[in-house]
Amino acid sequence: MKNIFCIGIGLIGGSFAIDIKKQHPESIIYGISRKDATLEKALELNLIDKKATLDDLNNADLVIVSIPVDATVKLLPTILDKISDKTLVFDAGSTKEAICKVVEHHKNRRNFLACHPIAGTENSGPTAAISDLYKGKTNIICEVEKTTFHLQEKALDLFRAIGMRIRYMDPVSHDKHIAYVSHLSHISSFMLGKTVLAKEKNERDIFDMAGSGFASTVRLAKSSPAMWAPIFNQNKENVIESLEEYINNLQKFKELMQQDNFSEIFKEMENTNYIKQILNGIK
Ligand code: NAP
Repeated sequence: MKNIFCIGIGLIGGSFAIDIKKQHPESIIYGISRKDATLEKALELNLIDKKATLDDLNNADLVIVSIPVDATVKLLPTILDKISDKTLVFDAGSTKEAICKVVEHHKNRRNFLACHPIAGTENSGPTAAISDLYKGKTNIICEVEKTTFHLQEKALDLFRAIGMRIRYMDPVSHDKHIAYVSHLSHISSFMLGKTVLAKEKNERDIFDMAGSGFASTVRLAKSSPAMWAPIFNQNKENVIESLEEYINNLQKFKELMQQDNFSEIFKEMENTNYIKQILNGIK
């Protein structure tokens, strides 16, 4: 694999660039982004070897698309227009239905693999890129049967080489499940941050009193709105459904408090402790 193009060279694209370069030191990593300053930063950090544009894509062996999901929906058909027969294109978007749909009938659909690496941090941009982000993490692949077999194999070799596990799912199930385990946790964290900020106008008090519980629960509220707003938009129905269930649970908790029903509150928490076994199992 010689010519690798990263469209979007932030946390996800930059981290792929680092790990793939380790596996393929002979490769040339090209960066494509909206802002020249982002590409300059990526060059300075050695994430990419050269700057490029979409018109250079006919040279690509591999194209990794790691830009916000609304930009992916807009740009992916053009990317597929510009590649050659041998090119593998995969995306990393956190939603899958809209992305798969927009290229459903594209003549080069078989060159595209729809992916969602379940790996990340709350940081963004090229400076957030880190080595080994994907080690031991799951990559969810959707509609694998729509990708040409030898390109599937090429992608799987690459993902395994950087330490990823693979799971297959259809895009509709992906978006439904991910609303609960990822999108809802981000909203919950953003709104926890908002609630505490509104109450504690004096930021010093927050920092003085914040324990590791607050810091870890509110960590996701540091995430980029530019990345998350399009995700909530594309997965609106599922996110609203998950929010309704979450709000019902919060409401019920509040009512139990108002009724002084602390034995029921104890039971609710004890039942939810079961999450420990599940999380230990997926470590
Ligand atoms: P990020 O760190 O903010 O990087 C995204 C980069 O995309 C930005 O540096 C931005 O560069 C560039 N970009 C934005 N719009 C663009 C456009 N229209 N054309 C070309 N470049 C554009 O975000 P990220 O965390 O890497 O996320 C990238 C993708 O991975 C998203 O689809 C996200 O859903 C998915 N993902 C994220 C995570 C996570 O935890 N962060 C996990 C799994 C999947 P400029 O400065 O040039 O605008």
